Amino acid sequence: MKQKLGEIIKKALEGGEITAEELKELLMVPSLAEEAYLLCAASRKMVERASQSKAEVHGQVGIDCGPCPKNCAFCSFAARNQVFPEAIVRTAEDIVSRCLSLEKEGANAIFLMATARYAFADYLKIAREVKRELKPETPLIANIDDFGDEEAQALKKTGFQGIYHVMHMGEGRETEIEPRIRLKTITAALKAGLEIGTAVEPIGPEHSLDEIIEKTMLIRAMKPAHAGVGRRIKIPGSSLAVHGQFNAAQIASVQAAVILALGYEVKGHCGEHGIGAMAGVNLAFAEAGSNPRDTEVNTVKGDNVGIRRAELREAGWEIHEGPSVIFQQ
Ligand code: SF4
Repeated sequence: MKQKLGEIIKKALEGGEITAEELKELLMVPSLAEEAYLLCAASRKMVERASQSKAEVHGQVGIDCGPCPKNCAFCSFAARNQVFPEAIVRTAEDIVSRCLSLEKEGANAIFLMATARYAFADYLKIAREVKRELKPETPLIANIDDFGDEEAQALKKTGFQGIYHVMHMGEGRETEIEPRIRLKTITAALKAGLEIGTAVEPIGPEHSLDEIIEKTMLIRAMKPAHAGVGRRIKIPGSSLAVHGQFNAAQIASVQAAVILALGYEVKGHCGEHGIGAMAGVNLAFAEAGSNPRDTEVNTVKGDNVGIRRAELREAGWEIHEGPSVIFQQ
């Protein structure tokens, strides 16, 4: 192992804050090199210490499917990708029942997701019904469009504990969202007392290391409840499909580097299960309804908390029972 790499890993594990230049050194490690395994072992160790070796599975229910006007090139809901030419909105009964099933299966928190085309007032209406039916201690997390101070207060009042919000890779370039709007939303949420779940995503071969570093440093400054690293999934026919996508091994070493840069304060990290879980991923999502990586209306592959728990256990994690501790800091 290069001397410098060992020193950076040691610094991170001893609680030091690594610099952007040091993170770049970590990100430059080829994914199948011997050093990549050391990197993953170190990031795993860091998350084990931060989380007392516990993993969580959160449930996410998608309320509607595109076409979304924000047109993120990586998203199957984007109007320009023409995967969902018609909008589909689930009924309140359907959404409540999916949330309750996930809670019953043992989900430690419930995320309620909507596209940017879904009206905030309608979202709050459904959220109130969901909140009324869930156990009071189950954290409810909003995954929605950008908003301001007033909406942040309304989310808090409705009983949301946090939001999932991402400054996407290529924001403003591969999306029709101005980066400053994303930041404004995160600031409003924090001001209202909402916790932030976020990630460096969706990363594809088209992105520079400098952009991964910029997004990681932004997340570190946010002091999120959970972070993560996500690869861009190829949507056939989309403008980004030509770049292909990273494999799980490539993204695991990026995940390891990002974890080491974020340090011990972040207790939860989502990302690829399997190889990623060996590198420190201790947060998985069981998804019902649809999600923006799918080209199907109903996600079936991720809708089972038991499957997600089993995957995490296979990677040696103990599963936390009860309400999330990641979202109760
Ligand atoms: S990522 Fe969100 S905002 Fe962007 S197109 Fe998809 S649903 Fe709309």
